[in-house]
Amino acid sequence: SEREIVTDVVIIGAGPVGLFAVFELGLLDIKCHLIDILDKPGGQCAELYPEKPIYDIPAFPEISGQELTNNLLEQAEPFGPTYHYNQMVTELEKQEDGSYIVKTDDNQTFKCKVVVIAAGGGSFQPKRPPVPEIENFENKSVFYAVRRREEFRDHDIVIVGGGDSALDWTLNLAEIAKSVTLVHRRDSFRAHTDSVNKMRALVEQGKINFELGQIANLEGDNGQITGVNLKTKEGEKLLPATRLLPFFGLTMKLGPVADWGLNLHENLINVDTEKFATSEEGIFAIGDINYYPGKLKLILSGFHEAALMAQAAKKIIHPDQKVVFQYTTSSTSLQKKLGVK
Ligand code: FAD
Repeated sequence: SEREIVTDVVIIGAGPVGLFAVFELGLLDIKCHLIDILDKPGGQCAELYPEKPIYDIPAFPEISGQELTNNLLEQAEPFGPTYHYNQMVTELEKQEDGSYIVKTDDNQTFKCKVVVIAAGGGSFQPKRPPVPEIENFENKSVFYAVRRREEFRDHDIVIVGGGDSALDWTLNLAEIAKSVTLVHRRDSFRAHTDSVNKMRALVEQGKINFELGQIANLEGDNGQITGVNLKTKEGEKLLPATRLLPFFGLTMKLGPVADWGLNLHENLINVDTEKFATSEEGIFAIGDINYYPGKLKLILSGFHEAALMAQAAKKIIHPDQKVVFQYTTSSTSLQKKLGVK
């Protein structure tokens, strides 16, 4: 399905820096859509260390990765950003009029005046399990994320893994699947105990199955699996299946960012320190993904970069409007935008 969204700014990456950019752009009356390949906001903070404390966020002596994410979402909320998850930005195309077309691997298209790349360490991509020829089935009957739950209705689903994604989707899809079998190589799980207990209860009620083992190979053709062969202690075992969801964790890869013709410095995007502009007019890069002399890959640096980028983006989006420097503390116009009563 081709869909096009028209907006001022597309932010690639909903990590802490992309989220704060919504706030800084919002104060200047600029509307944003954010795209992230993850199924949630917060980037590294939410994916890699949600419960670990951070000690160097200004004015927060201690705050966890998830708390920081929640606070940034709350701070951005008055500006009504739209979040698009489970999608990777694959293409950036400059138009004759200087605007950009941004495309995702989920066929979503955006038209915007400014692109802000806040892609951090690159896109989080699922690890492919070591199963022969699995790539022939990917995105047809083997998926590494659930984008549309309906595509799993009435299927025989095999889910592999022992973390939160595996357990959450086991519980969730059990409601609509023809059958669900969870496969893990151990009878212990990294997922939250609450989910593990719920999963065990469903197994006891005969609503889902649990198998100890590892995938040996897949059966099927033309992209459609018909069964999953397991290596178990007792030998090989064939599970009839029409959908496979392996959850083997994520790795960060630079991904398509490298293909957009921007000047790079060792896989990071070169920017100036006045505007955090890239080598392409109308494309900015902030946060961990950018490089300039003296760069520190810290969240606080990304916040500063977002503020200066917003000033420069404003000049592109509303060239006729003069920006008057104002404090949120004393400007009633800024407070109105923030919904302060
Ligand atoms: P990220 O958080 O990396 O977010 C980028 C997002 O962009 C990701 O979600 C990614 O999936 C998405 N993305 C990338 N490419 C695409 C694409 N093509 N399409 C769609 N989505 C895409 N920093 C501190 O300041 N203090 C600390 O104490 C601290 N502790 C840390 C501890 C650990 C264990 C780790 C791993 C990092 C720590 N950091 C700390 C670093 C901090 O997390 C990063 O500086 C910060 O997350 C960078 O934010 P970001 O928004 O630039 O990028």
